[in-house]
Amino acid sequence: MIRIGPAGSGGLGNKKGLEMLKSLGLNAMEVEFTYGVRMSNDEAKRIGEIARGFDISLSVHAPYYINLASKAKDKKRSSITRVLEACEKAHWLGAGYVVFHAGFYQDRTSREIYDIIKKETKGLLSELRRKGWAVLLAPETTGKISQFGDLDELLRMRRETGAELCVDFAHLLARGGTIDYGRVLDKLKAIKHIHSHFSGIQYTKKGERRHLKTDRKAIAPLIKEILRRDIDITIINESPDPVADSIMTGKIIESLNG
Ligand SMILES: [Zn+2]
Repeated sequence: MIRIGPAGSGGLGNKKGLEMLKSLGLNAMEVEFTYGVRMSNDEAKRIGEIARGFDISLSVHAPYYINLASKAKDKKRSSITRVLEACEKAHWLGAGYVVFHAGFYQDRTSREIYDIIKKETKGLLSELRRKGWAVLLAPETTGKISQFGDLDELLRMRRETGAELCVDFAHLLARGGTIDYGRVLDKLKAIKHIHSHFSGIQYTKKGERRHLKTDRKAIAPLIKEILRRDIDITIINESPDPVADSIMTGKIIESLNG
C-alpha cells in the first residue's frame, strides 16, 4: 500500500488539517514539531483518535535543532531531550515514526560520528522501552554533506541498533547529485514498511539548499518503481505546497494504475 500526505497540516492546525486531508482522500500526515514540542498529551490523544477515525496514519518530525554528536555536552543533552519529547507526543498520537536529523560531522570522520550516534541511539531506544512508548526512531537521510545520515550509514544503524529510518529521496538527490530510485529501493528490500519524504530540491556541491515544489516528472519514476515492486510505503511531501503536491502524487498513482 502507498500512503500519501503532507508534512504539517497545511497551516490549519492538526484537527482541521486532518478533516481537510480526509476530504481530499489523503491518508498520511506528519506532525511537525519544527521549532519545539508544544502539545499536551491529552491533545495528542485527541488528535490521534481523529486520525485513526479517518484512517490517516500519523508520524512525527522532531525539532530541527538536534545534534546527537555535538561536541558540547549541554547541546547533546538538549538534543536527546528534544527527541524524547517528540517520542512522548508520538506515543500519545499513535504516530509510528519519529523522524529527526541525527547530527553533524563537525570535522570528524564518518566512522567516529557513526559510533557516537549509535551509542546515543541505543540509549534512546532503551529509554523508549523503559517508558513503554510504542514508537519507531527514524533518523532521516539528510541533504547536506556536513550532516550525518547517508543511506548506507542509516541502514547500518538500523541493522545494528533496531532503529528504523526515514528515506528522504530529495535529500539523497541533493547529497549525491543524482538518484537511481531502483537502486535505492533495492537497498531497502528487507524493510517491511518504508517511511519516506519527497519534494523538489535545490542543491549545490555542499548538498541541499532548499525544498521546492514537486516536479511531476521527478516523482513519476519513483512511483513507477514502487508500483512495479508492490512496496508498502508512506510518502510524506515536504515541498512548500505539500497538500497540492500530495494530491498530484495520488493522481500519478491512479493514472499509472490505469
Ligand atoms: Zn525530509
